[in-house]
Amino acid sequence: RAGRTDDNAAVYYDPALDEEQRKFVALTADIRTALEAKQFEPYFQPLISLKTGHLVGFEALARWVHPDRGVVGPGAFITAAEEMGVIGDLFESVLKKVCVAALAWPSKIRVSVNVSPVQLSDDQFVDKMLESLRLYDFDPDRLVLEITENAVVRDMNAASDAMKRLRACGIRFALDDFGTGYSSLTYLSQLPFDSVKIDKSFVTDCDKVHSGHAIVESIINLCASLNLKTVGEGVERKEEAVALQKLGCDIAQGYWFFKPVPTAVANELVKSWTDQPARGREAGP
Ligand code: C2E
Ligand code: MG
Ligand code: MG
Ligand code: MG
Repeated sequence: RAGRTDDNAAVYYDPALDEEQRKFVALTADIRTALEAKQFEPYFQPLISLKTGHLVGFEALARWVHPDRGVVGPGAFITAAEEMGVIGDLFESVLKKVCVAALAWPSKIRVSVNVSPVQLSDDQFVDKMLESLRLYDFDPDRLVLEITENAVVRDMNAASDAMKRLRACGIRFALDDFGTGYSSLTYLSQLPFDSVKIDKSFVTDCDKVHSGHAIVESIINLCASLNLKTVGEGVERKEEAVALQKLGCDIAQGYWFFKPVPTAVANELVKSWTDQPARGREAGP
């Protein structure tokens, strides 16, 4: 019964739960070690303009490059990092690598980095953010912070103040996974976003006449009237890219164009692709 402190839990003793707890403790130890060893790396997924076909940016997606386990996706560590209170450290270590990588690219290529809503309630968030950018001499105009609407922003006023301070320095904000949370419209009306990322669940099959198509169309029209740019997430088929383009969506991202790639591959993409229509696919939109 090692580690059990809750008397009630003993009544409903469940060995699977103990196993789960043991795994979580092991994971938190591994994450701490990984942070020290700087094993978290950004992978980069291209963002393609549907107006010009050009590569206009990358979304940085955290990967745990583990010496034995290989490349591990964020599903395995983001929630744990949030619960452990180290999501800010993870963000900073990824952000630094993002800045180093992006400094080698033309300045018109923007980078988006995901921010956990937990970070917005850290009152040092803004200062730490700006300090990191100064340290790398990175132009805040090139940075977009993505905030998923699928999570609760506990203190709207604090979040709004932090965002406004960063916005005044040039940093832009994207509302991620739009349409999947409960407060899409509240967020849009109360927080200073510049763009909206339409969730994959609406983009999938948006070329076919069913509710997804109507929802995507409405989101794009809503965003246009609010002066927000739109990004279609999770484009896996050419027909979806074409449909988004016809509906007036600004930017697309998805496996049909490219999967997230490590820095070295992103560098190659930038070299071969800047100023030219999408070459990743033969008949790109
Ligand atoms: P997200 O920000 O919505 O990122 C998009 C996710 O969709 C990525 O998964 C990407 O690899 C995947 N994706 C892109 N195109 C396609 C497609 O065409 N088909 C399919 N099936 N998937 C596609 P990934 O990299 O596993 O990241 C999952 C989530 O983890 C992200 O969702 C984001 O919320 C979170 N995340 C990733 N990196 C970070 C980070 O550095 N900090 C924080 N706080 N969260 C992160
Ligand atoms: Mg994102
Ligand atoms: Mg998303
Ligand atoms: Mg997501």
